[in-house]
Amino acid sequence: MSPVLAVVLGTRPEAIKMVPVIAGLRAHPEVVTRVVVSGQHDLSALLDAAGVSVDAHIDAPPAGTLAEGLARATVGVEAVLAADPVDGVVVHGDTTTALGAALAAHYCRVPVAHVEAGLRTHDLWSPWPEEAHRAAIDRLSDLLLAPTEGARALLLAEGADPARIVVTGNPAVDAVRATAARVARRPLASVPGLEALPGVLDGRRLVVWTTHRRENLGPPLRALALAARDVLDARPDVVVAVPVHPNPRVGPVLREVLGDHPRAVLLPPLQHEAFVRLVLASTLVATDSGGVQEEAPSLGRRVVVLRDTTERPEGVAAGLARVAGVTRDGVRQAVLDDLERGLLPDEVVNPYGDGTAGVAIARALAAWVAQSVVDGARGTGQGGA
Ligand code: UDP
Repeated sequence: MSPVLAVVLGTRPEAIKMVPVIAGLRAHPEVVTRVVVSGQHDLSALLDAAGVSVDAHIDAPPAGTLAEGLARATVGVEAVLAADPVDGVVVHGDTTTALGAALAAHYCRVPVAHVEAGLRTHDLWSPWPEEAHRAAIDRLSDLLLAPTEGARALLLAEGADPARIVVTGNPAVDAVRATAARVARRPLASVPGLEALPGVLDGRRLVVWTTHRRENLGPPLRALALAARDVLDARPDVVVAVPVHPNPRVGPVLREVLGDHPRAVLLPPLQHEAFVRLVLASTLVATDSGGVQEEAPSLGRRVVVLRDTTERPEGVAAGLARVAGVTRDGVRQAVLDDLERGLLPDEVVNPYGDGTAGVAIARALAAWVAQSVVDGARGTGQGGA
């Protein structure tokens, strides 16, 4: 009997990064791969474009509290595993979906593999609640797929078994490179969501700005928006483009502070292809996102990290990123400094991988799930108390 893996996806960033892994698993026909989506974000357009079909849908929509989202994901994945037992569950990152899926698998005695294992800030409140989620998921996981040697070292320091860790690179690099190859030559005016940009840009330098992190909502978000405005006022040859995150607490602040500035372009949430095309048009990226910290250097752009901490220190150590904090003056200065430094040189080595992580992760998963079958690990599909 072929070993069966369930790959559980919840949010847009998880899906973007797991598409190369799912593609890599296609090269392992000895493994049956089932894709399960939780409903935390609507992934239909993204997965359709990637040619990924979904085998099971869980009804865990984003409304409600974190605890409600976690509960729905956990119960939903448990039901999927009960209906169709599997030999391994694969989760990515640090979302409520990933934690719920890992917990459900554990309760059903199904081994868990964690893609993007070993990321830590060691501050439970930044990023919140993701720092707690990823530490818990790593603890629940049997296979730890660490993107970098630094992540491996962190896992070992926490007592993880070295035999369970594989360093693979981060599939964010694979994903962003493949997307860039498709969209690099597309005129900005023809990219959905970016139509208005060329008129404002008109030869000016572009800063791409994204802010959405939960711990930045409220006064920090306002300070960040004011810093963007200060940058625009200090540099008449700069345009700031902000894809506005769908979180209802983000848009009003950005519109209030930046809405009337002629060189601030507030964009709708972009499809991934459009976002990558936007970054390719930029000189610099300022972001509080995790994934964008990996993507921007992979596209040759420096990153100003709009947070007090980062779980991606590799970019900082390599001089590709700087952690600017969330104060108006600190961020303004960091962005102005990095604007003068310009694009990253071509010869920079990407600390997040070489674009082959999807293949490496798929190989590790195939070997792992085959061993799970030998060990007789297939779960009961029942998480009874
Ligand atoms: N992204 C996107 N459209 C946008 C903004 C971001 O497709 O308008 C992508 C981006 O390329 C990256 C991911 O979303 O792959 C990052 O997601 P987000 O900033 O929500 O969160 P995080 O990485 O912190 O989980």
